[in-house]
Amino acid sequence: MRAVVYDQPGSFTVRDVPTPEPGSGDVLVRTTAAGMCGTDLHLHEGQFLANFPLTPGHETVGEVAAVGADATDGDGGALSVGQQVVINPNSSCRACAYCTEERPWLCESFAGIGSSTPGGFADYVLVPGAQLFDATGIDLDLAVFAEPSACIAHLMDRLHPLTGCSVVVFGAGPTGVLLTQFLRMAGASSVVLADPNEFKLSVAALLSPIGTFVMNRHDVPGSMAALVEKFGAFDVVIDATGKAAVVESLPQVARNGGRIVYYGVTDESDLVSISPFEIFRRELTIMGSFTEVDSFPDALAAFRSGAIRTDGLITHRYPVQDYGDALEALRGDRTAHKIVITP
Ligand SMILES: [Zn+2]
Ligand SMILES: [Zn+2]
Repeated sequence: MRAVVYDQPGSFTVRDVPTPEPGSGDVLVRTTAAGMCGTDLHLHEGQFLANFPLTPGHETVGEVAAVGADATDGDGGALSVGQQVVINPNSSCRACAYCTEERPWLCESFAGIGSSTPGGFADYVLVPGAQLFDATGIDLDLAVFAEPSACIAHLMDRLHPLTGCSVVVFGAGPTGVLLTQFLRMAGASSVVLADPNEFKLSVAALLSPIGTFVMNRHDVPGSMAALVEKFGAFDVVIDATGKAAVVESLPQVARNGGRIVYYGVTDESDLVSISPFEIFRRELTIMGSFTEVDSFPDALAAFRSGAIRTDGLITHRYPVQDYGDALEALRGDRTAHKIVITP
């Protein structure tokens, strides 16, 4: 089968590798679509728990190609060849202190398909059955957003309750756009999406009733001041940009007693300066939200409810052999929204 293979950070080829055989409990999935996101750029640089050699791809939809002995899906259901499934890339050890406290996303041996083991930028992926979820009847262009949506469902759990909260999200990438819809579903009274990219803001505004704000990327503090002037300060402030300049300015737009969430992936080496006196005096809460382990059922239920729309989000599709072009678009193409790798 064809697969993207990184032998070391920054250096990959698309080549033929042996198609894996499913052992007991495992399932071979034929990839039908695999989404790219900013995490793939971090993996490209060797950050983010990357294990080499590596085949990335952690947002994968596919069809069951072969079922190993005794394999069932994440809901304990039977799997049949040809069935559409989504892959939960994340797994925990189920034995460490965090896992036994039922907080598996904090697991000390957290592992990811597409970062620690081979992922979906390949014709086939080998997956433990328990990490598969039935996606029968869900449009492929929605199903491919299952993994980022599951991470958002986990964040919604952490932010519960959101009823009556005013929320601002920085970053109108696919994750920011999905976030605004999950926030509305969770009962936020108002949601504003802020980004310098007017194209991405306009796509988001077509999908759900939100306010939008065009930032000036060269003057983040000035943009923050103008944002508060227009909408007032916010109960919940979420960064989905991973840009240090934005992260640093978040307290500026929070109401006293507000919650600030680091959700975007910054560079591992980034440092920002925050006034501890301001956090103390204004009783601000700063929290991180990293990933999910057990939130796929929530994401799929949201999809099946009809509350989540992704029309217009996928702007670029590349066959796996053109992975290099896809990376270039992810890095620099301002008209690229979601980029999807297809067989
Ligand atoms: Zn991702
Ligand atoms: Zn664990």
